[in-house]
Amino acid sequence: MKAAPFDYIKADSLTHALETLGEYGGDAKLIAGGQSLVPMMAMRLARPTWLVDINRLDSLKNIQVGTDHVHLGAGVRQRDLEFHPQLASHLPLVGQGLKWVGHEQTRNRGTVGGSLVHADPSAELALSAMVLDVTLTLQSKAEGARTLQAADFFLGPMFTAVGDTEVLTDMSWPIWQGEHIGSAFEETAIRKGDFAMASAACQIQTNADGVISRLSFGMGGVDGTPLAFPQLANTLVGQKLTAELAQATAHQAAQTSQPGSDMHATAAYRKHLAEILLSRALLSAYAQAVGASRA
Ligand SMILES: Cc1cc2nc3c(=O)[nH]c(=O)nc-3n(C[C@H](O)[C@H](O)[C@H](O)COP(=O)(O)OP(=O)(O)OC[C@H]3O[C@@H](n4cnc5c(N)ncnc54)[C@H](O)[C@@H]3O)c2cc1C
Repeated sequence: MKAAPFDYIKADSLTHALETLGEYGGDAKLIAGGQSLVPMMAMRLARPTWLVDINRLDSLKNIQVGTDHVHLGAGVRQRDLEFHPQLASHLPLVGQGLKWVGHEQTRNRGTVGGSLVHADPSAELALSAMVLDVTLTLQSKAEGARTLQAADFFLGPMFTAVGDTEVLTDMSWPIWQGEHIGSAFEETAIRKGDFAMASAACQIQTNADGVISRLSFGMGGVDGTPLAFPQLANTLVGQKLTAELAQATAHQAAQTSQPGSDMHATAAYRKHLAEILLSRALLSAYAQAVGASRA
């Protein structure tokens, strides 16, 4: 199938993009890397009358490393982030998750913002954003700027809080401070580069004795949005992680998920898989945090 007819506008500034969206609203769609939108248009699941190209907007391509946050423009290519020299030290979980996102070719074009707005429940960047509690900035011509946390951004499968006339302009990704930080991203997909059947991500901090001082984790592909479990994570603070505790925690998290069944896996299988992946991610991140190598 080919895309339905559309008109194309190349935005030459953010103001231009905002004005165009303000004028055409729900009839217009932004195109960033096009790695999700173009297939959706080809399948006629998306039929914008106007396509507004934001690829030329350098103001959306900044990567600014601060002391406690990395500020990312929505138009930063996934591959540029992947190769950023401070990614592994400042946002290790994102570095680990990015390797699972599609292929080198799709990451060359695909943007961080495009992935979050596309909001596939299995998307690795979306899961990382939930686990790290990212702050997102949206702008529109009529309302100006507003910010919201990842938990309020993802509303359902391919459904976010971004309004018809809004642009996701940038994101603020927290940098965890101090020592003894470990992270892990685990995923199972049918083929390399496919969307995850289920995934799990974890970032953990301990004191020098291996006692957990900070913990955040989540699961992807097992609900309408990626899931994070801040309350459950808090119950582990002050404890040392054992294999039994990791397994019990992962089991409890998986029980609250509501995966669907499809030709690849039943809901029960996905739930079981997510539990195993999360248990593995917790132990792997913990081992890193306390400085031990993984068994
Ligand atoms: C073969 C293949 C395999 C893939 N595998 C994976 C995978 O394993 N994991 C994964 O997460 N993704 C995967 N993807 C998707 C890929 O990561 C896309 O890059 C990403 O989902 C969308 O980013 P994009 O920049 O291409 O956005 P686009 O496709 O250009 O846009 C996606 C949506 O976001 C909107 N949008 C884009 N930017 C903005 C903005 N700044 N503000 C508001 N709205 C905006 C668009 O209007 C559109 O609705 C795969 C894609 C392909 C083709």
